[in-house]
Amino acid sequence: MKTTFLERMQEYLKDEYEEYVKTLDQAMYKGLMVNTAKCSQQFVKQYFPFDLTSSKFSPNGFLFDPNLKVGNHWTHLAGLYYLQEPSASAAVEALDVQKDHWVLDCCAAPGGKSHQIACALNHTGFLLSNEIDGKRANTLMSNLERLGVGENMITCSSLEKLIPQVKGWFDRVLVDAPCSGEGMMKKHEIASIEWSKENNIACSIRQKHLLDLAVLALKKDGILVYSTCTYAIEENEAVIFDFLKKHPEMELLDANHGKMRCGIPYEDLEVKKLIRIYPMDGGEGHFIAKMRKKEETAKSPIKRIKPKKIPQEAIRFLQDQIDLDMNLTEINSKIYMRKNDFIQLDVPILREGILAGEIIKNRFAPHHHFYMSSLLSHHYQHVIDLNDEQLKQYLSGNVIMSPKKGYVSCQYHGISLGFGKGDGNMIKNHYPKGLRNSQTI
Ligand code: SAM
Repeated sequence: MKTTFLERMQEYLKDEYEEYVKTLDQAMYKGLMVNTAKCSQQFVKQYFPFDLTSSKFSPNGFLFDPNLKVGNHWTHLAGLYYLQEPSASAAVEALDVQKDHWVLDCCAAPGGKSHQIACALNHTGFLLSNEIDGKRANTLMSNLERLGVGENMITCSSLEKLIPQVKGWFDRVLVDAPCSGEGMMKKHEIASIEWSKENNIACSIRQKHLLDLAVLALKKDGILVYSTCTYAIEENEAVIFDFLKKHPEMELLDANHGKMRCGIPYEDLEVKKLIRIYPMDGGEGHFIAKMRKKEETAKSPIKRIKPKKIPQEAIRFLQDQIDLDMNLTEINSKIYMRKNDFIQLDVPILREGILAGEIIKNRFAPHHHFYMSSLLSHHYQHVIDLNDEQLKQYLSGNVIMSPKKGYVSCQYHGISLGFGKGDGNMIKNHYPKGLRNSQTI
């Protein structure tokens, strides 16, 4: 094991070091965040297959036995929760998202924090989830699709390109920064990594750069939360100290309120306001700082997408399928839906609201996202309630015998898992091929 890493942990933790070392032999904490935009905590507790205990980091967070797997359980496939290590939720709690806020999640994949933000917004405001890495951005998109998040936009951009287009617009900005990840390591990983202080410093240079850009997106009184899952002072307290020195328009707010472990003393930083989490505290390692912008930033001219004539096939489909009026737009034959306006940005956009479907050869082909949306969940007009056996058949990609005709939302206990198309005899399965699994529990 790299003694330098552990020596430094000993220096940080002093009397608690032995306790920390014991945690390195234990499994990672496992938890979930309830998708409150889709269902209640009570509903998850009723159908989740294992015991749940409350998390101390979020009122919607729960822990379960780390040796158990639930990825193939219908409650997960239906997007009733996001599987997340419990302390990761503390950063979004600090962000204090309110209804109608505009929120920017700068480093969003795989999407746990964007999901939590979407729940807090509850179909109001605007969430921009950005991820620089294309592969990870696709994972973000499929996670948010399963969770039924829709009042948002997913972009795959560098902050250098994105931020100048959104200056001064956001009430909340989250920088859940790429870091050295020391807080997510167990004994075998610590033994194998090439840990070095140089890597901590290289990470800190990138983190400061991301913060310098992210802060520009904030409006006056807007809140910026910076978080990492590492212990190194260089990537945590030192980053915040340097950032505040460089940005007198920002002030440090109290993210902690004496409830959790605070930061490690560093220069004259008010470390009581910071949050540090160690495995002894009930979750894996995290660091959180919360700041407020005291000054106005001139706004970039954000363009709204002008209303377009939507093809009749799409209108007819939507009028037949849901009893809800939404804003619609067409981009490259794809029809998107939002409650609020559509925003135009000159960066690669992966999703813009709910993807309702696509016009293919003068026909409207609905998309899985449409039938997973938490906003639309109580508005589908054509539904089939699957029984236990039909649920298994549906999730495995098989047909369902039913006299229904046309497109239907395939539901279990009132929750949509996707869709199919009936011919009066059977329902052809449209559950995405990449998600089909005969091993469902
Ligand atoms: N917030 C995410 C969540 O809750 O699921 C986890 C984010 S992870 C700690 C950091 C992310 O930042 C990674 O997905 C990484 O690809 C991304 N990243 C790395 N460099 C970046 C950059 N220069 N700009 C934006 N994102 C970056």
